[in-house]
Amino acid sequence: MKGPLLICILCAGAVSAFSLDREAFPITRYDLEARVEPELQRLAVRGRLELRNDSSSPQKHAVLQISSSLSWRSIENSGNRLQFVSQPYESDVDHTGELSEAIVTLPKEVAPGGSVDLDVGYEGVIVIDATRLTRIGVPKEVALHSDWDQIGKSFTAVRGAGYVAWYPMAAEAGNLSEGSSVFDAVGRWKQRERGAEIHIWFHEPGDSEERPALPLCNGASEGPGRGRAAGGDCWFSPLGFVIPTFVAGKYQLLDRLALKVHYLPEHAKQAETFALEADKATPFVTEWFGIPHTKAEVVELADPGASPFESGPWLLTPLSDADPKVLQLALVHSLVHAAFPSQRPWIYEGLAHFAQAVYRERQDGRQAALDFMGRNRVAIREVEKEHGDGPQDSIASAESLVASTREEFYRSKAAYVWWMLRDIVGDEGLKKALAEYSPREDTEPSYMQRLVQAQTKRDLEWFFDDWVYRDRGLPDFRVVSVFPRRTLESSYVTTVLVENLGRCAAEVPLTVRFDGGNATHRLLVRANDKASIRFDTPSLPTEVVVNDGSVPENDLSNNLFQVKAPPK
Ligand SMILES: [Zn+2]
Repeated sequence: MKGPLLICILCAGAVSAFSLDREAFPITRYDLEARVEPELQRLAVRGRLELRNDSSSPQKHAVLQISSSLSWRSIENSGNRLQFVSQPYESDVDHTGELSEAIVTLPKEVAPGGSVDLDVGYEGVIVIDATRLTRIGVPKEVALHSDWDQIGKSFTAVRGAGYVAWYPMAAEAGNLSEGSSVFDAVGRWKQRERGAEIHIWFHEPGDSEERPALPLCNGASEGPGRGRAAGGDCWFSPLGFVIPTFVAGKYQLLDRLALKVHYLPEHAKQAETFALEADKATPFVTEWFGIPHTKAEVVELADPGASPFESGPWLLTPLSDADPKVLQLALVHSLVHAAFPSQRPWIYEGLAHFAQAVYRERQDGRQAALDFMGRNRVAIREVEKEHGDGPQDSIASAESLVASTREEFYRSKAAYVWWMLRDIVGDEGLKKALAEYSPREDTEPSYMQRLVQAQTKRDLEWFFDDWVYRDRGLPDFRVVSVFPRRTLESSYVTTVLVENLGRCAAEVPLTVRFDGGNATHRLLVRANDKASIRFDTPSLPTEVVVNDGSVPENDLSNNLFQVKAPPK
């Protein structure tokens, strides 16, 4: 026993001496056959991976990682078994808090830009496991509603990167107790994998009498390859920002015009409600984003307390008797994904969150919409503090909206950016620009700017430059002075001077309140600059407020100016 163990330790030592670059190789193509065995809670996978060296130096070793509850069986190249060291690698990108990492010695060095095919085999179980959460102190009850992934006898639901490494990945470790390191590691991985072609073929499971149904997955069932006799195909071509996910259970299907609901038999009534609410929200989505090219899909999670999860047009959620307004909001998000594909997260996710805010506005008015977006304002500000406060341009472009892998940015901040853009150009202009959008033609970051400009004849360079192409932090407005002057018609002309203390320009609403009413104008205030505007009011203004909450900013405490009555 001592012999092989010693050799292994020596191997590991030899490998680590090379200063392993775990993120050198994205996996550009997956062609996998997967057998899911619910009775045994098992997953067994065989298949081929294509790895491309995206680093700047030749690589002799490649790293492949799977969940720690799975084990590597074989790694080959052109029929030859390759030497690899399998080791546990602590990382919270997997629900178990650990990965089975294979450090593979490649048949020969792969030059930068070069590719290598690996035939892999791995298997094991995927049982419910919330170790990564419980070990940082999250109560088990709560943690299991969040990390609900498992292959189970009666119910199976397994999400990919960031939840369960059920297909191979390769990323530096993330640790939930270290700020955003898990999100950063998963974000970088997703960024590298955006162009990956993934094909997973699920075997017809089991030979028992009561044969369970094939797993459902959130990819397409038809792809560019040939068909197969039995089993289910799952294609991601390309992957984009979707997280490959599969479920299995005694699902029934409710198939409507814009929505499919996969529900468990006891929840037929709730499934009907979901379909009904989707019908109500669909005209709004079509009006803004066009006719859905595919159906949104709601997939029931068996645990009634499970946290919902969305990826692409799939929404995994317990089917509860939710408030119809809340339900419609959730469905708007999925319906937008079904209507508006894009490889750019700030467009794909940003628009879906923006649409929810616009829908919220229809439900209960502008303030309700601003409150809806405002729930994430603090989180955005925190991330800006981490990244945006430095003057370095390298940081500024890395966390720009077009490049960011941070959810606070490509979801929450992006929703604000779309909202501000709509405030600037109006509903019709923005709708027309979105109608012109084609993901295939979106090959440059400035494509969206050109579309909006063409439809609205507005110069938006300043806006895209400060909010989309670069991360200049957030603006910070304050009202510097308010000068009311009585006119001959015994009304008032009031000049308001506003300062922007931030490094990011914005067009911001400015409201003057007076006895019996208020007036709002919009004012563009450049970074580190001042701008003034005049209001005509029938009586003396009492106070002036800059920013109704539609522009995310650093400090909202200095936005109100009380006007003192002038001496008689
Ligand atoms: Zn989404």
